[in-house]
Amino acid sequence: MKTLIRGGTLVTEYESLRADLLLEGEKIAAIGPELSCPEARVIEAEGKLVFPGFIDGHTHMDLPVCATVTADDFASGTAAALLGGTTTIVDFATQEKGETLEQGLDNWHRKAEGKASCDYGFHLAISQWDRQAEADLPRIFRRGVTSFKLYMTYANQVTDRELLEVLLALKPLGGIVGVHCENSGMIDVMQRQVKARGITGPEGHPLSRPDEAEAEAVNRLLALARVADVPVIVVHLSSKKGLEVIRQAREQGQQVYVETCPQYLHLTDRVFEGADEKEGRRYICSPPLRTGEDLAALWEALDEGEIDLISTDHCSFTDAQKAAGQGDFTAIPGGMPGVEDRVRIMYHSWVAEDGAEPSRLVRVLAAQPARLFGLYPRKGCLQVGSDGDLVLFDPNWEGTIRSDQCHNAAGYTPYEGWKIRGRVEEVFLRGHHVVSGGRLIAAGLGQYLPRSSCQL
Ligand SMILES: [Zn+2]
Repeated sequence: MKTLIRGGTLVTEYESLRADLLLEGEKIAAIGPELSCPEARVIEAEGKLVFPGFIDGHTHMDLPVCATVTADDFASGTAAALLGGTTTIVDFATQEKGETLEQGLDNWHRKAEGKASCDYGFHLAISQWDRQAEADLPRIFRRGVTSFKLYMTYANQVTDRELLEVLLALKPLGGIVGVHCENSGMIDVMQRQVKARGITGPEGHPLSRPDEAEAEAVNRLLALARVADVPVIVVHLSSKKGLEVIRQAREQGQQVYVETCPQYLHLTDRVFEGADEKEGRRYICSPPLRTGEDLAALWEALDEGEIDLISTDHCSFTDAQKAAGQGDFTAIPGGMPGVEDRVRIMYHSWVAEDGAEPSRLVRVLAAQPARLFGLYPRKGCLQVGSDGDLVLFDPNWEGTIRSDQCHNAAGYTPYEGWKIRGRVEEVFLRGHHVVSGGRLIAAGLGQYLPRSSCQL
């Protein structure tokens, strides 16, 4: 199986260059001007950008949460990912209380195996930290899981003591932790206060989760990480105040990686103005959508290179599932779809509108996640010997994002009606042509990716 991608503009994290690219079997076999390979099938890519397959380091497929299960399982979620140009996800396998870490990981293998259309790895969310969990860690590493998730809020939150113990336990193994930073106690009190003011609809959600809750938790996490002397990842950073805490720590020499998501770069709490409850519920995610000032601060940080990766936190629910929170914003399942929109919305805003070099997109959507999660250079780059994961992108296409054309199982997109430039046309996964003309032509080819430790 040989495919020659001819005449396109290859985009690496460093530059854009006109060159041909040959896929042979599952790998990139050659890159150069005017390649010739008579037996290869030829794809004309004149006028197209050729990106390495994009990596989404933060998804929740088939996750039980809020007495329901996310709308997307590994079949629908990874198909939507491929259609959006994402060829690899790193999903959060989650240990439920009462399970061992290995049981949690086993469960996620069962959910994904044979169903995934893009390649996948797992982080492991630790919900019960004890001697057994600590003893399991080396086996978890041998199974290719090197990154972990801890929550400072929600039912599976860890205490500061547990957080520090996990950081210390992972240190000799070379593991890294991504942390959901929000002050749980602050949110509990604020939720009661907001409800006491008679606010029960979705607009109460951002009011009950102030930016101070994020900034305080980021600050506490970074203090614990300094004590443990390990790098950490702040996942889905949403606020200017949180960003400022990170800046200060970095100025003192602390190693901290920052992830944000397209929703925090494109949507604000103004979405709740004039929205009915049903529409408002679609925008409930945690941390919540914030103000225009926060959004502007995150864009500035992105432009300055202070954001390491942009993931989706894809966690989708249908309107019917979201209706569990009718009249009580604290009962709305939190999360929104994103895997299909991430690449096109970031391309549109950053490259087409703001004039950023396309290579910057490759850095935060592919190369940095690959290194951070131990997949480089198999994934995240265009190099001879790397997996044949490619996205052929038409930079001149103009159109509108429509919910009825989306492929996630939630049935809507938070970017409904957005007019954008650029779209994913062809996608190759390990040399297989899986998306053609924007349509999925091969499903279920995704494979599990055992990962090495953080390469940053
Ligand atoms: Zn998440």
